[in-house]
Amino acid sequence: MDKDLLKTRAAPETEKRQFEDEALESLWELFEKEGPSAENVSLEELKNSSLGNISALEGMHRDGLIEISPGGRVKFTEAGRLRARDITRRHRLAERLFADILALNEYEEDACRFEHAISPEVEEAICTFLGHPPTCPHNRPIPRGKCCKLYTKKVTPLVASLADSQVGEDYKVVFLRTPMIDRLASIGLVAGSMIRLVQKRPSYVIKVDETTIAVEEEVAKGVFVKKHES
Ligand SMILES: [Zn+2]
Ligand SMILES: [Zn+2]
Repeated sequence: MDKDLLKTRAAPETEKRQFEDEALESLWELFEKEGPSAENVSLEELKNSSLGNISALEGMHRDGLIEISPGGRVKFTEAGRLRARDITRRHRLAERLFADILALNEYEEDACRFEHAISPEVEEAICTFLGHPPTCPHNRPIPRGKCCKLYTKKVTPLVASLADSQVGEDYKVVFLRTPMIDRLASIGLVAGSMIRLVQKRPSYVIKVDETTIAVEEEVAKGVFVKKHES
């Protein structure tokens, strides 16, 4: 869709929020490059960065998201830091989702739109689905969420390939990433179906309803499942 059209449609409040989010994210990135001790840059340095847009800085200042010292040093307020951290986390999770699961090469613009659109529940679900990734595809750290703390105690990703699953357990198929997709579908193994992993060696044996099928490890690696909670 035409970008300008989107702009005119967005409510002014939403638009302002997104504009501010982008600026907060840029500031977060800048501080990240300089290291946490440098969460304090001069206005001069900011003017030479992608944050050169002074109206963004003024807006953030007015809204209590950044502090500007009399000497012209800029740093986050607690509220600003939390929001910047949050938006950066959502952006980078979106990047992981688009790059790893959807195998897209071009996704930056969509990641930018996506980060504004998802609720905290969806954000947590994506993080859990991806196994709480520590970094984005550009190797920048993804700020940890509440779900990630729980994860370090439980240490089981929500979705894993059959190769990483346990014999004798029932699973629900979440998605398939294998050229064998047609053959698997012909016996009813599709996203959403319930299966049991019967054995792993010498080959993988999977039971779907009353049908049992043996597949190579390569295929098993492409079948992603979630444990069935009965
Ligand atoms: Zn990234
Ligand atoms: Zn997480």
